[in-house]
Amino acid sequence: MATDGKPDRGKVEMNAEECKGCGLCIEACPPKVLRLADHLNHYGYHPAEYLGAGCTGCGICFFVCPEPGGITVLRLVCSPRLPEDAGRQAMPKQLCKGNEAIVKAAVLAGCRAYYGYPITPASEIAEAAALLPAASRRRVLTGRE
Ligand code: SF4
Ligand code: SF4
Repeated sequence: MATDGKPDRGKVEMNAEECKGCGLCIEACPPKVLRLADHLNHYGYHPAEYLGAGCTGCGICFFVCPEPGGITVLRLVCSPRLPEDAGRQAMPKQLCKGNEAIVKAAVLAGCRAYYGYPITPASEIAEAAALLPAASRRRVLTGRE
C-alpha cells in the first residue's frame, strides 16, 4: 500500500455479502489498498476488504467488479485552487455505472415496476433494480422472447 502521506481522495465501501471473492478489484487497484479477508461470507467466499486508508477514488475497482452492489466508491470532490472552495470540506461523489444510473433515474422519475429477463446486457439492469427497495417491490423477471 502506498499512500505517499497525502490525504485520501476517495473512500471505498465493500459489501462483503455481495462479493464472490474473484479478486479482480484487488489486482486492479493501483495503490493496492484492497485484500481478501480471512473470514468467509454467506456464499462461502473470502470477500474483498479495504485496508482502511490510501484510496484515491479512481473507481477502477468499482468498474471491474462484476457484482452490482459489491463496491461503492465515493470520490471527494473539491478544488483547493478555486477561491470559492477555500476552506470547504470535500464533498463525496458516488460513482455510478450506466445501467445503475438508468434504474435510479427511472425510480426518481416515478417508475415503480420493472419487467425484464436476466440476459446480458439487461441482466445488470435487473440486478440494479433488485437492489433498490422502491423498484424491487414490483420487479418481474419474464421468460425469454
Ligand atoms: S477507488 Fe481506486 S484506489 Fe480506491 S480502492 Fe478502488 S481501485 Fe483502489
Ligand atoms: S471484484 Fe467484486 S466480486 Fe470480485 S473480489 Fe472484488 S468486490 Fe468481490
